[in-house]
Amino acid sequence: MPDTITSAVANGGADSNIDTAGLAISYADVAGAAERIAGVAHRTPVLTSRTADTLTGGELLFKCENFQRTGAFKIRGAYNAVSRFTPVQRALGVVAYSSGNHAQALALAASMLKVKSTIVMPQDAPAAKLAATRGYGADVVLYDRYAEPPDAAVARVLEERGGVLIPPFDHPHVMAGQGTVAKELIEEAGQTGGPLDLLVVPTGGGGLLSGCVIAARTLNPGCRVVGVEPEAGNDAQQSLRSGAIVRIDAPKTIADGAQSRAVGQLTFPVIQRLVDDIVTVTDGELVDSMRFFASRMKMMVEPTGCLAAAAVMSGKFDVRGKRVGIVVTGGNVDLARFASLVQAG
Ligand SMILES: *Cc1c(COP(=O)(O)O)cnc(C)c1O
Repeated sequence: MPDTITSAVANGGADSNIDTAGLAISYADVAGAAERIAGVAHRTPVLTSRTADTLTGGELLFKCENFQRTGAFKIRGAYNAVSRFTPVQRALGVVAYSSGNHAQALALAASMLKVKSTIVMPQDAPAAKLAATRGYGADVVLYDRYAEPPDAAVARVLEERGGVLIPPFDHPHVMAGQGTVAKELIEEAGQTGGPLDLLVVPTGGGGLLSGCVIAARTLNPGCRVVGVEPEAGNDAQQSLRSGAIVRIDAPKTIADGAQSRAVGQLTFPVIQRLVDDIVTVTDGELVDSMRFFASRMKMMVEPTGCLAAAAVMSGKFDVRGKRVGIVVTGGNVDLARFASLVQAG
């Protein structure tokens, strides 16, 4: 891992306007990830909506990772991480625990790179998720989440089979890969009318936020960067305010991609040094955004994917006259669940 903590100067000095000393990644790592994922991850579209602009008074740019391969941005970090394996690591294969988007992304990344993947999933995970993960080429190992915590199940798998664990957010290669979302968005904003005033990023364990803030501080220094969490799971906000990582009980929220109980040991120092603020939204505000995306922009966005949009659309910031980047992180939601959530009621 430490081999990734490259010096910005050695990589062209692109970090000159921020101090990344002591942090897990620098801008050079994000730029390197962008090269590695080129032609593998989609350069997703940046969409606009006249209705959204009229409602908020801002100029909103939606970076649509719901159109990404596997339906969420996670392929960026996963592919970057597996592509950096040494020959020994490649032979061992990759292991992950997740019932969500990271599992599918890692399975696809590993199969593209001809590396064996083992995904540890709870035995009561939705059948569609198990099938999708297997469909991307992973060997799925089930565990009983009422009898065993996930880390114990993973430790057992690593001991029995060996393999290299790639966690969903707290890993420098994952963080750097996720940062390519902001790099692409800021580049596109620059081509269509100028830099951003504000960048708003959904936040679970902080892999995406930490990568994005590194890219934003470097490429668009005047831009405020804010993370958004579900109100019921505001551990990152508490951590930022108290100055130390706060761990909470598994939150009850429809934003299942942001149910992490704490931010990471590597992501937190980046967030603490560089992120301006973390705000929260309610499940009701998430549902309003799901409806907005479906009815106005013809997109199916999963609840977690709506975090940033919900914060802007529900008026958490004054965006009048501002150019605002909004990361739409994913679109993986069961059709039946989507329908029941957006149903007027
Ligand atoms: C993983 C995920 C997030 C949160 O990302 P972190 O790096 O854990 O903060 C947000 N939205 C979606 C759709 C995700 O899959």
